[in-house]
Amino acid sequence: MNTVLPDAYVERMRRQLGGEADDFLASYRRPRTFGLRLNPLKIGPADPLAARIAAAFKLKPVPWCGTGFTYDERTRPGRHPWHAAGLYYIQEPSAMIAAELLDARPGELVLDLAAAPGGKTTQIGGRMGGRGLLVANEIHPGRAKILAENVERAGLANAVVTNAEPDELAARWPEAFDRVLLDAPCSGEGMFRKDPDAVREWSPEAVAMCARRQRDILPCAARLLKPGGRLVYSTCTFNREENEETVGWFLRTFPEFRLVREERLWPHRDEGEGHYAAVLEKEGERTERWRSPSPPAKGGKRERGGGAAEALALYREFAAEALPGFELPPAGEPLLFGESLFWLPRPEGSPVGAASLARLRLPRPGLHLGDVRKGRFEPAHALAMAVSGSMAARRREAAPDSPETAAYLRGESLPAPDGLARGWGLATVDGCPLGWFKASDGVCKNRLPKGLRSPSA
Ligand code: SAM
Repeated sequence: MNTVLPDAYVERMRRQLGGEADDFLASYRRPRTFGLRLNPLKIGPADPLAARIAAAFKLKPVPWCGTGFTYDERTRPGRHPWHAAGLYYIQEPSAMIAAELLDARPGELVLDLAAAPGGKTTQIGGRMGGRGLLVANEIHPGRAKILAENVERAGLANAVVTNAEPDELAARWPEAFDRVLLDAPCSGEGMFRKDPDAVREWSPEAVAMCARRQRDILPCAARLLKPGGRLVYSTCTFNREENEETVGWFLRTFPEFRLVREERLWPHRDEGEGHYAAVLEKEGERTERWRSPSPPAKGGKRERGGGAAEALALYREFAAEALPGFELPPAGEPLLFGESLFWLPRPEGSPVGAASLARLRLPRPGLHLGDVRKGRFEPAHALAMAVSGSMAARRREAAPDSPETAAYLRGESLPAPDGLARGWGLATVDGCPLGWFKASDGVCKNRLPKGLRSPSA
Protein backbone atom coordinates (compact mmCIF):
# COMPACT_ATOMS: atom_id res chain seq x y z
CA MET A 1 0.00 0.00 0.00
CA ASN A 2 1.64 3.23 -1.09
CA THR A 3 -0.63 6.20 -1.72
CA VAL A 4 0.96 9.10 -3.62
CA LEU A 5 -0.20 12.22 -1.85
CA PRO A 6 -0.51 15.71 -3.40
CA ASP A 7 2.43 17.95 -2.31
CA ALA A 8 0.08 20.71 -1.18
CA TYR A 9 -1.77 18.23 1.04
CA VAL A 10 1.47 16.97 2.65
CA GLU A 11 2.55 20.54 3.29
CA ARG A 12 -0.78 21.47 4.86
CA MET A 13 -0.79 18.40 7.10
CA ARG A 14 2.80 19.08 8.19
CA ARG A 15 1.73 22.59 9.17
CA GLN A 16 -1.36 21.30 10.97
CA LEU A 17 0.24 18.39 12.82
CA GLY A 18 3.78 19.63 13.45
CA GLY A 19 5.83 16.92 15.20
CA GLU A 20 3.14 14.31 14.67
CA ALA A 21 3.07 14.70 10.88
CA ASP A 22 5.64 11.96 10.18
CA ASP A 23 3.59 9.38 12.07
CA PHE A 24 0.44 10.55 10.33
CA LEU A 25 2.01 10.40 6.86
CA ALA A 26 3.50 6.98 7.59
CA SER A 27 -0.04 5.64 8.09
CA TYR A 28 -0.53 5.94 4.31
CA ARG A 29 2.08 3.23 3.87
CA ARG A 30 0.17 0.80 6.05
CA PRO A 31 -2.86 -1.26 4.94
CA ARG A 32 -6.24 0.18 5.75
CA THR A 33 -8.53 -1.17 8.46
CA PHE A 34 -11.73 -3.03 7.66
CA GLY A 35 -14.77 -2.93 9.91
CA LEU A 36 -18.33 -4.15 10.33
CA ARG A 37 -21.16 -3.43 12.70
CA LEU A 38 -23.47 -6.14 14.00
CA ASN A 39 -27.13 -5.26 13.48
CA PRO A 40 -28.85 -5.19 16.90
CA LEU A 41 -32.25 -5.45 15.19
CA LYS A 42 -31.30 -8.98 14.16
CA ILE A 43 -28.67 -10.19 16.58
CA GLY A 44 -27.94 -9.50 20.24
CA PRO A 45 -24.42 -9.51 21.75
CA ALA A 46 -25.15 -12.66 23.80
CA ASP A 47 -26.61 -14.55 20.85
CA PRO A 48 -24.43 -17.63 20.10
CA LEU A 49 -24.59 -16.57 16.44
CA ALA A 50 -22.63 -13.41 17.37
CA ALA A 51 -19.81 -15.64 18.63
CA ARG A 52 -19.87 -17.65 15.37
CA ILE A 53 -19.68 -14.45 13.31
CA ALA A 54 -16.81 -13.21 15.49
CA ALA A 55 -14.90 -16.44 14.94
CA ALA A 56 -15.61 -16.60 11.20
CA PHE A 57 -14.29 -13.08 10.49
CA LYS A 58 -11.74 -12.78 13.31
CA LEU A 59 -13.55 -9.80 14.83
CA LYS A 60 -11.93 -7.42 17.29
CA PRO A 61 -13.97 -4.77 19.15
CA VAL A 62 -13.92 -1.12 18.11
CA PRO A 63 -13.52 0.89 21.36
CA TRP A 64 -16.00 3.68 20.54
CA CYS A 65 -18.86 1.51 19.23
CA GLY A 66 -20.37 -1.42 21.15
CA THR A 67 -21.62 -3.14 17.99
CA GLY A 68 -18.51 -2.32 15.92
CA PHE A 69 -15.58 -4.61 15.08
CA THR A 70 -12.58 -4.78 12.82
CA TYR A 71 -12.27 -7.90 10.70
CA ASP A 72 -9.62 -9.76 8.81
CA GLU A 73 -10.08 -8.65 5.21
CA ARG A 74 -9.25 -12.15 3.86
CA THR A 75 -12.43 -13.56 5.46
CA ARG A 76 -14.67 -11.48 3.13
CA PRO A 77 -17.81 -10.98 5.25
CA GLY A 78 -19.48 -8.97 2.47
CA ARG A 79 -19.84 -12.15 0.43
CA HIS A 80 -21.33 -14.29 3.18
CA PRO A 81 -25.08 -15.12 3.25
CA TRP A 82 -25.18 -13.53 6.72
CA HIS A 83 -24.54 -10.22 4.94
CA ALA A 84 -27.48 -10.83 2.59
CA ALA A 85 -29.56 -11.50 5.72
CA GLY A 86 -28.63 -8.05 7.10
CA LEU A 87 -26.83 -9.38 10.17
CA TYR A 88 -24.11 -6.77 9.82
CA TYR A 89 -23.13 -3.70 7.82
CA ILE A 90 -19.62 -3.25 6.44
CA GLN A 91 -18.39 0.11 7.75
CA GLU A 92 -15.01 1.69 8.26
CA PRO A 93 -14.43 1.72 12.08
CA SER A 94 -13.80 5.42 12.67
CA ALA A 95 -17.02 6.31 10.77
CA MET A 96 -18.90 4.57 13.58
CA ILE A 97 -18.25 7.39 16.02
CA ALA A 98 -20.71 9.95 14.62
CA ALA A 99 -23.90 7.90 15.14
CA GLU A 100 -22.68 6.87 18.61
CA LEU A 101 -22.36 10.55 19.54
CA LEU A 102 -25.78 11.30 18.10
CA ASP A 103 -27.09 8.86 20.72
CA ALA A 104 -30.57 8.41 19.19
CA ARG A 105 -33.13 6.76 21.49
CA PRO A 106 -36.13 4.52 20.74
CA GLY A 107 -39.26 6.59 20.12
CA GLU A 108 -37.50 9.75 18.94
CA LEU A 109 -37.74 11.62 15.64
CA VAL A 110 -34.33 11.52 14.00
CA LEU A 111 -33.01 12.90 10.71
CA ASP A 112 -29.89 11.79 8.85
CA LEU A 113 -29.55 14.65 6.39
CA ALA A 114 -26.76 13.37 4.08
CA ALA A 115 -27.25 9.66 4.47
CA ALA A 116 -26.11 7.57 1.47
CA PRO A 117 -24.97 4.85 1.31
CA GLY A 118 -26.43 4.38 4.79
CA GLY A 119 -23.68 3.34 7.19
CA LYS A 120 -24.76 5.82 9.81
CA THR A 121 -28.47 5.49 9.02
CA THR A 122 -28.41 1.75 9.68
CA GLN A 123 -26.42 2.36 12.86
CA ILE A 124 -28.93 4.96 14.10
CA GLY A 125 -31.82 2.65 13.17
CA GLY A 126 -30.22 -0.13 15.20
CA ARG A 127 -30.02 2.11 18.24
CA MET A 128 -33.68 3.14 17.83
CA GLY A 129 -34.83 -0.48 18.05
CA GLY A 130 -37.64 0.00 15.51
CA ARG A 131 -39.37 2.68 17.63
CA GLY A 132 -39.88 6.31 16.65
CA LEU A 133 -39.11 7.55 13.15
CA LEU A 134 -35.85 7.89 11.25
CA VAL A 135 -35.81 10.04 8.11
CA ALA A 136 -32.77 9.32 5.95
CA ASN A 137 -32.18 11.86 3.20
CA GLU A 138 -29.84 11.83 0.22
CA ILE A 139 -29.58 14.52 -2.44
CA HIS A 140 -28.36 12.31 -5.34
CA PRO A 141 -31.08 10.05 -6.80
CA GLY A 142 -28.76 7.12 -7.59
CA ARG A 143 -27.21 7.17 -4.13
CA ALA A 144 -30.66 7.54 -2.54
CA LYS A 145 -31.66 4.26 -4.19
CA ILE A 146 -28.61 2.49 -2.73
CA LEU A 147 -29.46 4.01 0.65
CA ALA A 148 -33.00 2.61 0.41
CA GLU A 149 -31.60 -0.87 -0.40
CA ASN A 150 -29.26 -0.76 2.60
CA VAL A 151 -32.07 0.42 4.88
CA GLU A 152 -34.14 -2.48 3.59
CA ARG A 153 -31.43 -5.12 4.14
CA ALA A 154 -30.90 -3.87 7.69
CA GLY A 155 -34.62 -4.43 8.34
CA LEU A 156 -35.43 -0.89 9.49
CA ALA A 157 -39.21 -0.86 9.88
CA ASN A 158 -39.33 2.75 11.11
CA ALA A 159 -37.37 4.53 8.37
CA VAL A 160 -38.37 6.81 5.51
CA VAL A 161 -35.87 7.58 2.71
CA THR A 162 -36.20 10.94 1.00
CA ASN A 163 -34.31 12.31 -1.99
CA ALA A 164 -34.35 16.04 -1.39
CA GLU A 165 -32.24 19.17 -1.08
CA PRO A 166 -31.69 19.99 2.60
CA ASP A 167 -33.59 23.30 2.27
CA GLU A 168 -36.67 21.49 0.91
CA LEU A 169 -36.79 19.49 4.14
CA ALA A 170 -36.07 22.51 6.33
CA ALA A 171 -39.01 24.38 4.80
CA ARG A 172 -41.28 21.37 5.35
CA TRP A 173 -40.31 20.23 8.84
CA PRO A 174 -38.82 23.15 10.78
CA GLU A 175 -37.95 22.30 14.39
CA ALA A 176 -39.35 18.80 13.97
CA PHE A 177 -36.47 16.48 14.93
CA ASP A 178 -35.03 15.50 18.30
CA ARG A 179 -31.68 14.69 16.67
CA VAL A 180 -30.10 15.55 13.34
CA LEU A 181 -26.95 14.07 11.88
CA LEU A 182 -25.10 15.99 9.19
CA ASP A 183 -22.36 13.69 7.94
CA ALA A 184 -21.33 16.34 5.49
CA PRO A 185 -20.01 16.01 1.95
CA CYS A 186 -16.31 16.80 2.38
CA SER A 187 -12.91 16.63 0.69
CA GLY A 188 -12.52 13.05 1.99
CA GLU A 189 -8.91 13.17 3.18
CA GLY A 190 -9.75 10.16 5.32
CA MET A 191 -10.66 8.21 2.19
CA PHE A 192 -7.22 8.38 0.58
CA ARG A 193 -6.15 4.81 1.54
CA LYS A 194 -9.48 3.44 0.38
CA ASP A 195 -10.32 5.43 -2.72
CA PRO A 196 -7.71 6.70 -5.22
CA ASP A 197 -10.36 9.03 -6.75
CA ALA A 198 -10.48 10.96 -3.47
CA VAL A 199 -6.73 11.67 -3.88
CA ARG A 200 -7.14 12.73 -7.52
CA GLU A 201 -10.05 15.05 -6.71
CA TRP A 202 -8.30 16.74 -3.78
CA SER A 203 -6.98 20.32 -4.11
CA PRO A 204 -6.90 23.37 -1.82
CA GLU A 205 -9.72 24.79 -3.97
CA ALA A 206 -11.80 21.62 -3.45
CA VAL A 207 -11.33 21.98 0.31
CA ALA A 208 -12.55 25.60 0.15
CA MET A 209 -15.50 24.59 -2.01
CA CYS A 210 -16.48 21.82 0.44
CA ALA A 211 -16.28 24.27 3.36
CA ARG A 212 -18.65 26.64 1.52
CA ARG A 213 -21.07 23.80 0.83
CA GLN A 214 -21.01 22.73 4.46
CA ARG A 215 -21.92 26.29 5.43
CA ASP A 216 -24.88 26.11 3.03
CA ILE A 217 -26.19 22.87 4.52
CA LEU A 218 -25.59 23.51 8.24
CA PRO A 219 -28.27 26.25 8.55
CA CYS A 220 -30.83 23.72 7.23
CA ALA A 221 -29.71 21.19 9.84
CA ALA A 222 -30.05 23.89 12.52
CA ARG A 223 -33.55 24.78 11.36
CA LEU A 224 -34.74 21.16 11.28
CA LEU A 225 -33.75 20.57 14.91
CA LYS A 226 -36.17 21.01 17.84
CA PRO A 227 -35.20 23.44 20.60
CA GLY A 228 -33.26 21.34 23.11
CA GLY A 229 -32.26 18.91 20.33
CA ARG A 230 -28.85 17.53 19.38
CA LEU A 231 -27.00 18.07 16.10
CA VAL A 232 -23.93 16.03 15.20
CA TYR A 233 -21.74 17.44 12.44
CA SER A 234 -19.16 15.03 11.06
CA THR A 235 -16.70 14.62 8.20
CA CYS A 236 -14.12 12.09 7.05
CA THR A 237 -11.55 14.78 6.37
CA PHE A 238 -8.64 16.16 8.43
CA ASN A 239 -8.21 19.85 7.59
CA ARG A 240 -9.38 22.44 10.11
CA GLU A 241 -11.23 24.49 7.50
CA GLU A 242 -13.96 21.87 7.07
CA ASN A 243 -13.97 20.87 10.74
CA GLU A 244 -13.17 23.19 13.65
CA GLU A 245 -13.39 26.33 11.48
CA THR A 246 -16.76 25.33 10.01
CA VAL A 247 -18.07 24.57 13.49
CA GLY A 248 -16.64 27.89 14.77
CA TRP A 249 -18.48 29.71 11.99
CA PHE A 250 -21.66 27.79 12.86
CA LEU A 251 -21.47 28.74 16.54
CA ARG A 252 -20.97 32.42 15.69
CA THR A 253 -23.88 32.36 13.24
CA PHE A 254 -26.26 30.36 15.44
CA PRO A 255 -25.61 31.51 19.01
CA GLU A 256 -28.49 29.34 20.27
CA PHE A 257 -26.14 26.36 19.85
CA ARG A 258 -23.31 25.28 22.12
CA LEU A 259 -20.53 22.82 21.44
CA VAL A 260 -20.72 19.98 23.96
CA ARG A 261 -18.08 17.65 22.55
CA GLU A 262 -15.59 17.45 19.71
CA GLU A 263 -13.84 14.24 18.66
CA ARG A 264 -11.13 13.46 16.18
CA LEU A 265 -9.95 10.01 15.24
CA TRP A 266 -6.64 9.72 13.40
CA PRO A 267 -5.28 6.85 11.30
CA HIS A 268 -1.91 6.95 13.09
CA ARG A 269 -3.46 6.94 16.58
CA ASP A 270 -6.69 4.96 16.24
CA GLU A 271 -8.04 1.93 14.45
CA GLY A 272 -9.53 3.26 11.21
CA GLU A 273 -9.20 5.89 8.50
CA GLY A 274 -9.98 8.92 10.67
CA HIS A 275 -13.07 11.02 11.37
CA TYR A 276 -14.17 14.32 12.87
CA ALA A 277 -17.39 14.80 14.85
CA ALA A 278 -18.84 17.75 16.79
CA VAL A 279 -21.81 17.46 19.11
CA LEU A 280 -23.89 20.64 19.14
CA GLU A 281 -26.95 21.26 21.26
CA LYS A 282 -29.68 23.81 20.67
CA GLU A 283 -30.94 25.71 23.66
CA GLY A 284 -34.54 25.36 24.76
CA GLU A 285 -36.93 22.84 26.20
CA ARG A 286 -37.58 19.77 24.05
CA THR A 287 -41.28 18.93 23.64
CA GLU A 288 -42.94 15.85 22.20
CA ARG A 289 -45.50 17.79 20.19
CA TRP A 290 -44.41 19.42 16.98
CA ARG A 291 -45.40 23.06 16.80
CA SER A 292 -44.72 24.11 13.24
CA PRO A 293 -43.41 27.67 13.13
CA SER A 294 -44.84 27.87 9.58
CA PRO A 295 -48.08 26.59 8.00
CA PRO A 296 -47.92 22.87 7.17
CA ALA A 297 -47.46 21.85 3.53
CA LYS A 298 -50.68 21.19 1.62
CA GLY A 299 -51.62 17.53 1.33
CA GLY A 300 -51.36 15.42 -1.80
CA LYS A 301 -54.07 12.98 -2.68
CA ARG A 302 -52.00 9.99 -3.72
CA GLU A 303 -51.52 8.62 -0.21
CA ARG A 304 -54.99 8.85 1.18
CA GLY A 305 -58.40 7.37 0.52
CA GLY A 306 -60.04 4.00 0.15
CA GLY A 307 -57.26 2.44 -1.95
CA ALA A 308 -54.77 2.34 0.90
CA ALA A 309 -57.35 1.01 3.37
CA GLU A 310 -58.34 -1.79 0.97
CA ALA A 311 -54.72 -2.69 0.31
CA LEU A 312 -54.08 -2.74 4.07
CA ALA A 313 -57.01 -5.12 4.57
CA LEU A 314 -55.43 -7.46 1.98
CA TYR A 315 -52.09 -7.17 3.77
CA ARG A 316 -53.74 -8.06 7.10
CA GLU A 317 -55.34 -11.13 5.54
CA PHE A 318 -51.95 -12.17 4.15
CA ALA A 319 -50.15 -11.53 7.46
CA ALA A 320 -52.73 -13.46 9.53
CA GLU A 321 -52.04 -16.51 7.36
CA ALA A 322 -48.34 -16.24 6.46
CA LEU A 323 -46.78 -14.00 9.12
CA PRO A 324 -48.80 -14.56 12.30
CA GLY A 325 -45.95 -13.55 14.62
CA PHE A 326 -45.48 -10.04 13.21
CA GLU A 327 -47.25 -6.87 14.33
CA LEU A 328 -46.98 -3.56 12.53
CA PRO A 329 -45.80 -0.68 14.72
CA PRO A 330 -49.12 0.39 16.28
CA ALA A 331 -49.03 4.09 15.41
CA GLY A 332 -48.80 4.59 11.69
CA GLU A 333 -50.64 4.99 8.44
CA PRO A 334 -50.82 3.05 5.18
CA LEU A 335 -49.64 4.76 1.99
CA LEU A 336 -50.45 3.45 -1.45
CA PHE A 337 -48.22 4.40 -4.39
CA GLY A 338 -49.65 2.76 -7.49
CA GLU A 339 -49.90 -0.88 -6.49
CA SER A 340 -47.27 -0.65 -3.72
CA LEU A 341 -48.37 -0.47 -0.10
CA PHE A 342 -46.13 1.12 2.56
CA TRP A 343 -46.51 1.52 6.30
CA LEU A 344 -45.45 4.94 7.55
CA PRO A 345 -44.84 4.92 11.33
CA ARG A 346 -46.39 7.93 13.02
CA PRO A 347 -44.97 8.19 16.54
CA GLU A 348 -46.34 10.79 18.95
CA GLY A 349 -45.70 14.30 17.65
CA SER A 350 -44.38 13.26 14.22
CA PRO A 351 -45.07 15.78 11.47
CA VAL A 352 -43.94 13.25 8.85
CA GLY A 353 -47.34 12.09 7.68
CA ALA A 354 -48.96 11.33 4.36
CA ALA A 355 -49.86 14.97 3.68
CA SER A 356 -46.41 16.35 4.51
CA LEU A 357 -44.71 13.88 2.15
CA ALA A 358 -46.59 15.23 -0.87
CA ARG A 359 -44.36 16.31 -3.77
CA LEU A 360 -41.21 14.85 -2.20
CA ARG A 361 -39.15 12.24 -4.03
CA LEU A 362 -39.46 9.17 -1.85
CA PRO A 363 -37.31 6.15 -2.68
CA ARG A 364 -38.83 4.57 0.45
CA PRO A 365 -41.91 6.18 1.97
CA GLY A 366 -41.91 3.77 4.92
CA LEU A 367 -41.83 0.01 5.31
CA HIS A 368 -42.77 -1.57 1.97
CA LEU A 369 -45.34 -4.20 2.92
CA GLY A 370 -46.08 -5.48 -0.54
CA ASP A 371 -47.92 -4.97 -3.81
CA VAL A 372 -51.53 -5.56 -4.73
CA ARG A 373 -51.72 -7.30 -8.11
CA LYS A 374 -55.04 -8.36 -9.59
CA GLY A 375 -56.65 -8.19 -6.18
CA ARG A 376 -53.94 -10.39 -4.60
CA PHE A 377 -51.33 -9.37 -2.04
CA GLU A 378 -47.67 -10.12 -2.77
CA PRO A 379 -45.28 -9.42 0.12
CA ALA A 380 -42.27 -7.14 -0.43
CA HIS A 381 -38.65 -8.14 0.12
CA ALA A 382 -38.42 -5.26 2.65
CA LEU A 383 -41.03 -7.00 4.79
CA ALA A 384 -39.03 -10.25 4.78
CA MET A 385 -35.99 -8.33 5.99
CA ALA A 386 -37.90 -6.54 8.77
CA VAL A 387 -39.18 -9.71 10.46
CA SER A 388 -37.56 -12.77 11.99
CA GLY A 389 -37.92 -16.28 10.62
CA SER A 390 -39.81 -17.45 13.69
CA MET A 391 -42.70 -15.07 12.86
CA ALA A 392 -43.53 -16.90 9.63
CA ALA A 393 -45.99 -19.77 9.22
CA ARG A 394 -43.67 -21.42 6.64
CA ARG A 395 -39.95 -21.40 6.74
CA ARG A 396 -37.19 -23.19 4.89
CA GLU A 397 -34.03 -23.13 6.98
CA ALA A 398 -30.65 -24.06 5.50
CA ALA A 399 -27.09 -23.67 6.72
CA PRO A 400 -25.35 -20.53 5.43
CA ASP A 401 -22.65 -22.59 3.72
CA SER A 402 -25.08 -25.12 2.20
CA PRO A 403 -25.63 -25.60 -1.55
CA GLU A 404 -29.34 -24.81 -0.97
CA THR A 405 -28.57 -21.36 0.44
CA ALA A 406 -26.25 -20.63 -2.49
CA ALA A 407 -28.97 -21.81 -4.89
CA TYR A 408 -31.61 -19.63 -3.17
CA LEU A 409 -29.35 -16.57 -3.43
CA ARG A 410 -28.86 -17.28 -7.16
CA GLY A 411 -32.62 -17.10 -7.54
CA GLU A 412 -33.25 -20.83 -7.99
CA SER A 413 -36.35 -22.65 -6.79
CA LEU A 414 -35.84 -25.41 -4.22
CA PRO A 415 -37.67 -28.62 -3.33
CA ALA A 416 -40.20 -28.03 -0.55
CA PRO A 417 -39.63 -29.94 2.68
CA ASP A 418 -42.17 -32.73 3.29
CA GLY A 419 -45.49 -31.50 4.61
CA LEU A 420 -44.95 -27.79 3.79
CA ALA A 421 -48.36 -26.29 2.99
CA ARG A 422 -48.92 -24.13 -0.11
CA GLY A 423 -48.31 -20.43 0.36
CA TRP A 424 -45.74 -17.76 1.18
CA GLY A 425 -42.78 -18.57 3.40
CA LEU A 426 -39.30 -17.35 4.31
CA ALA A 427 -35.96 -18.83 3.30
CA THR A 428 -33.73 -18.44 6.37
CA VAL A 429 -30.15 -18.90 7.56
CA ASP A 430 -29.71 -19.22 11.32
CA GLY A 431 -33.33 -18.12 11.66
CA CYS A 432 -32.75 -14.87 9.74
CA PRO A 433 -34.70 -14.28 6.52
CA LEU A 434 -32.97 -14.03 3.15
CA GLY A 435 -36.25 -13.50 1.28
CA TRP A 436 -39.60 -15.00 0.31
CA PHE A 437 -40.53 -18.19 -1.50
CA LYS A 438 -43.93 -19.40 -2.57
CA ALA A 439 -44.58 -23.08 -1.94
CA SER A 440 -46.79 -25.17 -4.16
CA ASP A 441 -46.72 -28.72 -5.52
CA GLY A 442 -43.58 -29.70 -3.65
CA VAL A 443 -41.53 -26.68 -4.85
CA CYS A 444 -40.47 -23.47 -3.09
CA LYS A 445 -40.57 -20.96 -5.92
CA ASN A 446 -37.90 -18.34 -5.46
CA ARG A 447 -39.15 -14.77 -4.88
CA LEU A 448 -35.84 -13.06 -4.19
CA PRO A 449 -35.83 -9.79 -6.22
CA LYS A 450 -33.81 -10.19 -9.42
CA GLY A 451 -31.48 -7.30 -8.58
CA LEU A 452 -30.38 -9.03 -5.36
CA ARG A 453 -29.55 -12.41 -6.84
CA SER A 454 -25.92 -13.52 -6.92
CA PRO A 455 -24.52 -14.38 -10.35
CA SER A 456 -24.61 -18.05 -11.37
CA ALA A 457 -21.24 -19.77 -11.37
N1 SAM B 1 -23.61 9.28 6.08
C1 SAM B 1 -23.21 8.43 4.98
C2 SAM B 1 -22.85 7.06 5.50
O1 SAM B 1 -22.48 6.94 6.66
O2 SAM B 1 -22.97 6.08 4.74
C3 SAM B 1 -22.13 9.06 4.15
C4 SAM B 1 -22.49 10.44 3.65
S1 SAM B 1 -21.31 11.19 2.62
C5 SAM B 1 -20.04 11.63 3.68
C6 SAM B 1 -22.05 12.73 2.24
C7 SAM B 1 -23.30 12.66 1.37
O3 SAM B 1 -23.74 14.00 1.13
C8 SAM B 1 -23.08 12.02 0.01
O4 SAM B 1 -23.94 10.92 -0.15
C9 SAM B 1 -23.44 13.14 -0.98
O5 SAM B 1 -24.15 12.67 -2.11
C10 SAM B 1 -24.31 14.07 -0.15
N2 SAM B 1 -24.32 15.46 -0.63
C11 SAM B 1 -23.57 16.02 -1.59
N3 SAM B 1 -23.90 17.32 -1.76
C12 SAM B 1 -24.87 17.59 -0.88
C13 SAM B 1 -25.64 18.74 -0.58
N4 SAM B 1 -25.42 19.90 -1.21
N5 SAM B 1 -26.57 18.64 0.37
C14 SAM B 1 -26.76 17.47 1.03
N6 SAM B 1 -26.07 16.36 0.78
C15 SAM B 1 -25.14 16.41 -0.16
